[in-house]
Amino acid sequence: MISDNINRIKSEIPEQVTLVAVSKYQSLEDTQAVLDAGIYDLGESKVQDFIKKYEVLGDRPRWHFIGHLQKNKVKYIIGKTFLIHSVDSIELINVIERESKKQGIVTNVLLQLNLAREDSKSGIVIEDLDAVLKVLPRYQFVKVKGLMAMGPLIEDNDKIREIFVELKKIYDRIKEESVDDTIQMNYLSMGMTDDYTIAIEEGSNMIRVGRKIFS
Ligand SMILES: *Cc1c(COP(=O)(O)O)cnc(C)c1O
Repeated sequence: MISDNINRIKSEIPEQVTLVAVSKYQSLEDTQAVLDAGIYDLGESKVQDFIKKYEVLGDRPRWHFIGHLQKNKVKYIIGKTFLIHSVDSIELINVIERESKKQGIVTNVLLQLNLAREDSKSGIVIEDLDAVLKVLPRYQFVKVKGLMAMGPLIEDNDKIREIFVELKKIYDRIKEESVDDTIQMNYLSMGMTDDYTIAIEEGSNMIRVGRKIFS
């Protein structure tokens, strides 16, 4: 049962950690069941699926866009999201800025880092991060609220932990160094079904859980 799964996870995690229920691929009924269980943070990864659910559920949930976002689809989701977790290039930030300006709103985003260096994953590689941070104060309609990363797809817990420790260090460094309100480190989005326990131990305050809720 979805509500049992949610209650189990909630009992395991500290109160200050936000549980984002990753409702991608789930039916409207099962997505609704998450809301009924008292979780209002929903994660979607495909623009079309998200829009379909948005048309029915509207702004009652806080929508988290967590999938790879194509520049030509940005216009469909602007104004509907609480956070876009998957911002991975200056080009994408430019488009989010433009579309947000059109609507006269500020869009809150996380920078997705590719620390595991898996080619299959999108995200900013560490060498490029400072260049991205440097241009952020230019933007008026995009605000960076934190970082997101995925752990490596391996079973070696020590290696997974290493990645999360590295991400937390980067998060803390940016938090210390940022003087501009364009960059605020409020959310460290790391941890999924298989690794959220490790992620929380290493400082995550936002976990994105799919399978453990819906199976
Ligand atoms: C699918 C997905 C999740 C949830 O993964 P589970 O292993 O099902 O918990 C979290 N984050 C991102 C970016 C995803 O694409």
